[in-house]
Amino acid sequence: VIEITNLHKAYGALEVIKGVDLTAHRGDVVSLIGSSGSGKSTILRCANLLEDSQQGDIVFKGEPVKWRGTGLNRHPADAKQVLRIRTNLSMVFQQFNLWAHLTILQNVMEAPVTVLGRDRAEVEAAARKYLDKVGIGDKCDVYPAQLSGGQQQRAAIARALAMEPEALLFDEPTSALDPELEQEVVRVIKDLAAEGRTMMIVTHDMKMAADVSDHTVFLHQGLIEEQGAPKDLFGAPKSDRLRQFLSSTM
Ligand code: ATP
Ligand code: MG
Repeated sequence: VIEITNLHKAYGALEVIKGVDLTAHRGDVVSLIGSSGSGKSTILRCANLLEDSQQGDIVFKGEPVKWRGTGLNRHPADAKQVLRIRTNLSMVFQQFNLWAHLTILQNVMEAPVTVLGRDRAEVEAAARKYLDKVGIGDKCDVYPAQLSGGQQQRAAIARALAMEPEALLFDEPTSALDPELEQEVVRVIKDLAAEGRTMMIVTHDMKMAADVSDHTVFLHQGLIEEQGAPKDLFGAPKSDRLRQFLSSTM
């Protein structure tokens, strides 16, 4: 679904991604782990073109991103392509980012109706289905502030699913939650993985990474330090940096 080759990204003079290759085939769950500042969020944001990158190829379903300019002046060239890719790589953020003035149902319906121009009645039926799926079908008519953090994050996941994307990108979906609420979100992510959804998940939760992913990537200062099957990465880490990282987090 998404294939990234030799990605480079800088913020001004600060180079934060220094040549990263990353692929998620259909049905793959890829987790990204690494210390704070290693570039995990930046990679997700470059993948769905929320951020520009200076070098490297991004290919979505066989379709290479078209660029104009080079280096710090490189930008996507085709606005329709950007919209297509962004709506197909739907992102779930640490802080949920629900619209406070819309009900939960309206939150889930908003983008499919306004961005994709889909039929309202069909979108509503689908939105209710996704809210049921994440276990908050009874919360359609309340506002985000009336929900717990775990429920808000599940609403944000339903909102991402309502775009019917090719893949879901999660940026620390459980980091803002108390431990007891974390588990209800992990449960939903596990269900999505079991359904064969394509996902890239940035997480500090090593247990979730080990449980749900097919492939785990450990980043260090903008480069991939080690990657592989989670059982190898967590069970028999090769690099000293990964060993150190794991002993500091587990
Ligand atoms: P965390 O675990 O803390 O979320 P991360 O691995 O997601 O960390 P990134 O957010 O990708 O790390 O940041 C990578 C580097 O890029 C960091 O050094 C960060 O300070 C820098 N950075 C991120 N966003 C910006 C920005 N908008 N402007 C300038 N520098 C930035
Ligand atoms: Mg981050």
